[in-house]
Amino acid sequence: MTNHPNNFYIALLHDKMVDKDGKLITTSITTIDLHDICRSATTYGAKGVFIAHPSPTLRALSHQLKEHWECGFGSSYNPNRSQALKLVELVSDLDEAIMKIDLACSQLPKIIATSAKDGGDRISFNKLKELLSSQPKQPYLLLFGTGWGMSQELLERADYFLKPILGNGDYNHLSVRSACAIALDRLFGR
Ligand code: SAM
Repeated sequence: MTNHPNNFYIALLHDKMVDKDGKLITTSITTIDLHDICRSATTYGAKGVFIAHPSPTLRALSHQLKEHWECGFGSSYNPNRSQALKLVELVSDLDEAIMKIDLACSQLPKIIATSAKDGGDRISFNKLKELLSSQPKQPYLLLFGTGWGMSQELLERADYFLKPILGNGDYNHLSVRSACAIALDRLFGR
């Protein structure tokens, strides 16, 4: 049975993040995040990668990057990268990403939050994997944060909250790029 997700999306969020003191911040878009996350998303069969940022200027800059790789010089220089960047869509916020998925799938997505912190209401990767494959038509949206993680306001919007990816020591400071790749492999890897 293929584990290829039909309606599985990723969103990288920058607004309503927290800083090291727990204060609400808006982080900037890091272009390597776009490259890496859409390459992982393409590898594991996600249907789309939403890059959400409230700043029209930063969205326009990211769109320029996407254009460069998708149809500019980059597309002939590196067609693999071009294929991956096709997945990227720039949106203002989480709600716009949800709306676009609803339009594409005629169904609201189930939202899955991620964090390096553990807590009571978490779902394991195996449990979520079972859920995903049991409802292939249901669209899912996996949220990744930036900075020091997503605010409580964002986390509370999730239908599921994934257990953290843990190594075998106390150090747990994965980049969002690494966390995304590991999470996708645990959910969809062969
Ligand atoms: N301390 C932050 C937290 O608890 O989420 C880490 C922020 S990290 C730089 C940015 C994002 O990467 C997080 O919002 C989360 O989406 C993802 N992430 C980082 N480490 C993770 C882990 N161990 N397990 C799951 N997701 C992780």
